[in-house]
Amino acid sequence: MAKIPVVMPTYSRTDIVFERGEGCWLFDTDGKRYLDFAAGVAVNALGHAHPHMVQALTEQAAKLWHCSNLYRVAGQEKLAARLVERTFADTAFFANSGAEAVECAIKMARKYHSATGHPEKYRIICCSGAFHGRTLATIAAGGQQKMLDGFGPAVEGFDHVPFGNLNELRAAIGPQTAAILVEPIQGEGGIHAATLDFLRGLRAAADEFGLLLMFDEVQCGVGRTGRLFAHEWADIAPDVMAVAKGLGGGFPVGACLANEKAAVGMTPGSHGSTYGGNPLAMAVANAVLDVLTEDGFLARVEAMGEKLGQGLDALKAAYPTVLAETRGMGLMRGLQCVPTVTPADFITKARAQGLLLVPAGDNVVRLLPPLIIGADEIDAALSILATVCRGIAEEQTA
Ligand code: PLP
Repeated sequence: MAKIPVVMPTYSRTDIVFERGEGCWLFDTDGKRYLDFAAGVAVNALGHAHPHMVQALTEQAAKLWHCSNLYRVAGQEKLAARLVERTFADTAFFANSGAEAVECAIKMARKYHSATGHPEKYRIICCSGAFHGRTLATIAAGGQQKMLDGFGPAVEGFDHVPFGNLNELRAAIGPQTAAILVEPIQGEGGIHAATLDFLRGLRAAADEFGLLLMFDEVQCGVGRTGRLFAHEWADIAPDVMAVAKGLGGGFPVGACLANEKAAVGMTPGSHGSTYGGNPLAMAVANAVLDVLTEDGFLARVEAMGEKLGQGLDALKAAYPTVLAETRGMGLMRGLQCVPTVTPADFITKARAQGLLLVPAGDNVVRLLPPLIIGADEIDAALSILATVCRGIAEEQTA
């Protein structure tokens, strides 16, 4: 018999099986309760089993699951119109994941220049430390060697510059450059928030050189920073934006939003997806947006984000031998551990105390609670984090 696990071992998984979720809490098969500051890696925007989402999904499930993009899909038209109304975008393509949303953006950058008489412009400038997904094109866009290893030859056409360095980015623009692709807040890379000036500088450079400005808001978008999309803090608009994760709140859905100019080449037959934007996904995503756009929802995310940020700053000040830096915005936060402390160890200790966290690059522990998180739950998480820090600090002096 084969020795390989029946589930292909592409993840090193923690030995827990979750059975159900309720709000910001998850329950495993032994009945143990965990405070979920992972939220499925920034996916469960409204927590678990949110009644409005459950109702939307079950009502749609009784009517129609799938019918194909050969026909009009009412839920797509509704969601697209709502996203267009609330963003820079004029149009939306629906996909099933973040990588597919980014893939659509990459294709759109090439198609835009090809359709406007410049097929030689196909290269995309990305940032080091980026993460854009796991397809062949998106691992090339991410540019991280550990994700490219063994999967060569890498898809051609991506140039990388240091995140946040406008001069190097401008210097990398050449006659073949088509677009800039940036995460306003790098997630997997270690919760690096771009400065608002960097984002504005990207817009200016794109305008000056005739490039498309494309943001990957798969992780930082959909309310996570207290605005519907993170780039809104800089008061600028991209031409294209990839969205996923929180958009479906746990149902697989992604979207690539674009202005009319950028989407000029996206004509019938140019791109597609069998499942993208099917009625079930659209019912759930519309339900997520109902809640996110309720009066005061995003202001509350911002306030809870402030509270969490202040708590983490206090923790860092109290445990300087454990924590090196606090990072992030809103409910997308990072704790960088000192070099002798690993995120894996920190996260294991927090989990033992009933708090779920996510590792990231750059020796960072990520905190990505559901956007419905309350003050008491933040206090509970901070108290567990303090216990973990205290324990590690004691080990250091033992
Ligand atoms: N882009 C960013 C910024 C992400 O954080 C991720 C996933 O973590 C992706 C793209 C890929 O999304 P998915 O895993 O849904 O394909």
